[in-house]
Amino acid sequence: MNANLQLDGDTIVAIATAPGRGGVGIIRLSGNKALPIAEAITGLSLTPRHAHFSQFGDANNLQIDSGITLYFPGPNSFTGEDVVELQGHGGPVIMDLLVRACVARGARQARPGEFSERAFLNDKIDLAQAEAIADLINSTTEQAALNATRSLQGDFSKEIDYLVEQVTQLRVYVEAAIDFPEEEIDFIGDGQVRTKLLAIIEQLRQVQSAAQQGTLVQEGMKLVIAGKPNAGKSSLLNALSGQDTAIVTPIEGTTRDVLRERIQIDGLPLHIVDTAGLRESGDEVEQEGIRRAWTEMESADRILLVVDSSDPEHNSDDPSVIWPEISEHLTRTIAVTVIHNKCDLSQRSPEISEANGRTVIELSAKTGEGIALLKQHLKSCMGYSEEGEGSFSARRRHLGSLENASASLEAGKFQLENAGAGELLAEDLRQCQDHLGEITGRVSSDQLLGEIFSNFCIGK
Ligand code: GDP
Repeated sequence: MNANLQLDGDTIVAIATAPGRGGVGIIRLSGNKALPIAEAITGLSLTPRHAHFSQFGDANNLQIDSGITLYFPGPNSFTGEDVVELQGHGGPVIMDLLVRACVARGARQARPGEFSERAFLNDKIDLAQAEAIADLINSTTEQAALNATRSLQGDFSKEIDYLVEQVTQLRVYVEAAIDFPEEEIDFIGDGQVRTKLLAIIEQLRQVQSAAQQGTLVQEGMKLVIAGKPNAGKSSLLNALSGQDTAIVTPIEGTTRDVLRERIQIDGLPLHIVDTAGLRESGDEVEQEGIRRAWTEMESADRILLVVDSSDPEHNSDDPSVIWPEISEHLTRTIAVTVIHNKCDLSQRSPEISEANGRTVIELSAKTGEGIALLKQHLKSCMGYSEEGEGSFSARRRHLGSLENASASLEAGKFQLENAGAGELLAEDLRQCQDHLGEITGRVSSDQLLGEIFSNFCIGK
């Protein structure tokens, strides 16, 4: 079995279709008693994977509805247990009556996510796939739905399983060298271990980058607009969101707090945060705004660094004039796009270029020139492709595990290159396996599983 959570042997029942009225409403049963309960309700002997039309009776055999019944015997069912679907008329009262008829015959109401949880516990899907079910159902954009479908099919899990396999093989080799020193495997001197380790680090880096894009498409990219006062940050927020959300004035220090906006660019979700102008200020309220700006920047996926290109003080193609002041406050590396704003004043045409490894965009937040270039750039940062090709879906939880797995491999590389300590390398590889295992649920705590499945709706 997959985890520590235990299957309780109950037969569970829930309405599987969305609440409200519809042509058809579906009740799903899973467990040992699913078949006898459904046969009692329909009065039929059910053939696996056949559609049966019949009347549905309650516990006193009073007819409450009629419809189609489908029976999927375990283990070849969604949950791995016997599953029956009763398709009746889609009204809330009828659906409730059908659930009650099942409960009267020995089923119990399912908890949120319990069907998916059982599928996970019975090894029908792994944890990343279970999460993909919720992500697919909750998708707000087409791209997010397509990505979630790929994860549900196991595209993400396959990448993780492959990495785990590679790490396991390397660990076995290193441990064999430690356990059988008489074989005289000099794995430190043997360049194979290092080559293999470096190859795994590179593979992990690729999975991390794909997962990062998958998360951005699923959960939205958090963009923080930063820069000196009056550079045009609020104007840029307004230009991107198409609304007068932020107050635009020529007085420095107008945006005293943090403004947030959720927008979509061609269906890709963006969370934009406009921050107080970064400058020394004696004003207490403004100081608090600036402190919050730093906190927001720490959790950004990307920073839009706005520079007033009409102001000779800031007018430099090299953002290093302003960036060091900002980056020294940050505890981690965050992607930056430099915006040379007010191109209408500096009389430069809107364009996108690369300078010092960073994208630089000339635009005017006021006239809107170049905003389309910025939107295009943001779409490509999220891995959007016009052909509809995409990545798999992933969550921030997965990114955390991948980061930890990567840190373990880096620590192992350090051991190999500097300390020559085989035991420590083996331990780092073991930790890497555990972090990767958290993604698919091979290694998981009840608390984590509880949190994940309780965020599902009932009936899933
Ligand atoms: P913030 O302090 O960085 O948020 O800057 P604001 O967005 O409040 O803009 C400061 C001033 O610059 C306002 O008077 C804006 O109208 C003006 N401004 C902003 N963007 C542009 C632009 O692209 N062109 C011109 N000509 N003025 C701009």
